Amino acid sequence: MQVKTILNRVHRIKGFVYEHARFVDERIEVKLRPRKRSRPVCSGCGRRGSGYDTLGERRFAFVPLWAIAVDLVYAMRRVDCPRCGVTVEQVPWGNGKRPVTRAYAVFLARWARRLSWKEVATIFQTSWESVYRSVTWVVEYGLQHRTLEGITAIGVDEIQFQKGHRYLTVVYQINAGCRRLLWVGSDRTTKTLLRFFKMLGSERTTAMQFICSDMWQPYLKVIAKKAAGALHILDRFHIVARLNKALDEIRAAEAKQMARDGYEPVLKRSRWCFLKREENLTDPQRVKLDDLLRYDLKSVRGYLLKESFQVFWEYASPYWAGRFLDGWCKRAMRSRLEPIKKVARSVRGHRELILNWFRAKKEFSSGIVEGMNNKIKLTIRKAYGYRELKVAEIAIYHALGQLPEPELTHEFC
Ligand SMILES: [Zn+2]
Repeated sequence: MQVKTILNRVHRIKGFVYEHARFVDERIEVKLRPRKRSRPVCSGCGRRGSGYDTLGERRFAFVPLWAIAVDLVYAMRRVDCPRCGVTVEQVPWGNGKRPVTRAYAVFLARWARRLSWKEVATIFQTSWESVYRSVTWVVEYGLQHRTLEGITAIGVDEIQFQKGHRYLTVVYQINAGCRRLLWVGSDRTTKTLLRFFKMLGSERTTAMQFICSDMWQPYLKVIAKKAAGALHILDRFHIVARLNKALDEIRAAEAKQMARDGYEPVLKRSRWCFLKREENLTDPQRVKLDDLLRYDLKSVRGYLLKESFQVFWEYASPYWAGRFLDGWCKRAMRSRLEPIKKVARSVRGHRELILNWFRAKKEFSSGIVEGMNNKIKLTIRKAYGYRELKVAEIAIYHALGQLPEPELTHEFC
């Protein structure tokens, strides 16, 4: 069987003919020519025109065969287009000026979802750059061809990018049947989120029913302004995370103070005893916690306040949940624990948005957003070349966007 036969089976190209394949410098080279009397397509307007002349040969990398690189070799024609003048033809297997076939670009991009981009480059003997460009092309195609209909629930969140204070804003669709990344943009300002709503368009924004977010003020501002019709829910996960952070601050400060005052270091190795949910503690941690609770410590008071907050999520009615919240905030404000008081003030300030979680019948748990955030962090961590924001954005769309891919006649991987 000839390579030509295989190519005709897996990658037939209308209007073009495969000629002989040759083995040159450890590569397989397959010549392509246009079918007789076929007219070239103008790259300017996409319409057929009459041929003008033929340029030199160009190579297009194709999916490797038995780990041997394959190149399609083709002499591009020029088109005499009545609308665009003389242009280079547009060929169905390539995209623009890239020396890579669409099939190979999709092939590399698919592997780039499973492995790090560097590994993909190494395995298929190409450059990181080439993998990056292939992914970019597939992502751009996907963004142009995806549908944004039927989105009624979204989650907005921020993700720290690298060290320091650089952030990405991410927006997910969190409908039960469709969970995916919709948008990612640099920074976490009002302008950032406004850009998302601009992309979404006013009609789709009006159709929005639920929006989850954390308490980040710029987000709250934009959501109130742009999507006033939607039920805005403050995320359970973020509230719990803030309480844990407050408690951790109290514990660390107290442990330091005790060491300074020469007390027995009872708080040593107590961090997870306080932060974990009680049912998740290991046996030694439980013993340690029981021991700690005998002391009159700020950490203990903070811990008890944090634990008592758990009941809040068990309520069904927003009314009674609200009553509980008010009571808890009152106790927290009397606690003389500044970090906890800070959380309580913020909870009070966002009372209605927090209670919206109950009004939405607890349907949109933050677990969804949290899970996707973890996946993003993994995506960024897994790749060594993502130091640039633009690259990270492409990688994130690629990993979580559920974007449609260019259609191929054969599944190469
Ligand atoms: Zn044209």
